[in-house]
Amino acid sequence: MQKIREECGVFGAFGVEGAAEIVRMGLAFLQHRGQEGCGIAYLDRDGNLCLKKKLGLVSGVFPRGVPDAGTSRSAIGHVRYGTSGGSGEDNVQPFVFRLKDGGFATAHNGNIVNADELFKALSVRGKLFHSSSDSEILGALLGESLRRGGNVSEPLIARALNQVDGAFSFLVLTGDTLYACRDKYGLRPLSYGRLGNGFVVGSETCSLEAVGAHSVRDVRPGEIVRLSADGINHTLYASVRQNAMCAMEYIYFARPDSDIEGLNVHAFRKESGKILFRESPCGADMVIGVPDSGFSAAIGYSEASGIPMEMALVKNAYVARTFIQPTQEMRLNGVRMKLSPVRSLICGKRLVVVDDSIVRGTTSRQLIRMLRDAGAREVHMRIPSPPLRNPCYYGVDISSREELISASLDVEGVCRFIGADSLAFISPEGLMEAGKRTRMCMACFSGNYPTDLYSHG
Ligand code: SF4
Repeated sequence: MQKIREECGVFGAFGVEGAAEIVRMGLAFLQHRGQEGCGIAYLDRDGNLCLKKKLGLVSGVFPRGVPDAGTSRSAIGHVRYGTSGGSGEDNVQPFVFRLKDGGFATAHNGNIVNADELFKALSVRGKLFHSSSDSEILGALLGESLRRGGNVSEPLIARALNQVDGAFSFLVLTGDTLYACRDKYGLRPLSYGRLGNGFVVGSETCSLEAVGAHSVRDVRPGEIVRLSADGINHTLYASVRQNAMCAMEYIYFARPDSDIEGLNVHAFRKESGKILFRESPCGADMVIGVPDSGFSAAIGYSEASGIPMEMALVKNAYVARTFIQPTQEMRLNGVRMKLSPVRSLICGKRLVVVDDSIVRGTTSRQLIRMLRDAGAREVHMRIPSPPLRNPCYYGVDISSREELISASLDVEGVCRFIGADSLAFISPEGLMEAGKRTRMCMACFSGNYPTDLYSHG
């Protein structure tokens, strides 16, 4: 079984005119969460479950809308990023499971930690899989229960969800209902809103706003939200629930205009920059935020320190973010294409450079070299996340300690490797304070995983 480590986005619409088109737009606003493939499953005017999916960006896969879907009133969609081993059209979601009297479609963001165990158990019971994605397991468990009788319903979904462990924001579309579910740890975000007389649900609130919806609230950890012609129904399916939202959603993945669990992502990052200055002050002439996710923390660092912030790095908007390109080679080639220094601003200056995180260290090294070539007198790196030292098993492409420079070098060693004059990371306590939270998943920093790790342990 392939270990799919992906950072994806899901979006659904129910009871609204042109649902498939609305999902297409919602997915476009979640494109930052996955750029390898996308798909939309929708109900046509006759109630048939239709599926269009392909490798590529939303604008490339659906350049002129979703073909033949003009009359759809309910749909779900998915944008996907997969590791090279898990790439391929088979793994693009949604998945459609056809049954004698209808069927259902699923879309999943996250990663199931006991996927190997479930895959083996289901295989022994005769289940055949069409993909190497752990996301298919959720649908397979549902399908298995359905074969024993009954319709897709909260108890049946709860039975399936209580067998899987890990991170999932999970959508299930049937002939008359859209279910939105979150894992009991609350690792991945998912929010729903109202659009006219219908509903939309998406990985981030920015996608709800984009389609003109009024955001209602997050789906809670361990909750199933049923959206149907009868309105909204909420069910808590897990007896033990946590609030272990992925800290990297706030630090890096989510868009700054999204709110996650009541907290705006930009506000979180800005506060983390202020705390970073309090913890690791630095004398300099200029603060620079590394586009885009370093900007908000740089604003905070600048405000707290009184050091002016300048737009001294310009991003080429048409080159994808380095961290979510699939190969190391692409990442290495991508750095210089991605950013250009503004030489006239930088020359002769002492710089504080704020970047969201340091993964392999190669990006920071190239960046600092580029800034020195542009005439920077000093370069001080400030990072509003603690050092990344452990893999993520919950759907983020941090697959091994070998890829993480902070797993083998201390802060001084990393500073030497990247060639900075000084380097400081925010403390875990500082990060928690930035979000005024008492709990988040910070396992890639601390090694304290909120779940069992099964065969990964
Ligand atoms: S291990 Fe890190 S990246 Fe993975 S869910 Fe936890 S905080 Fe997020």
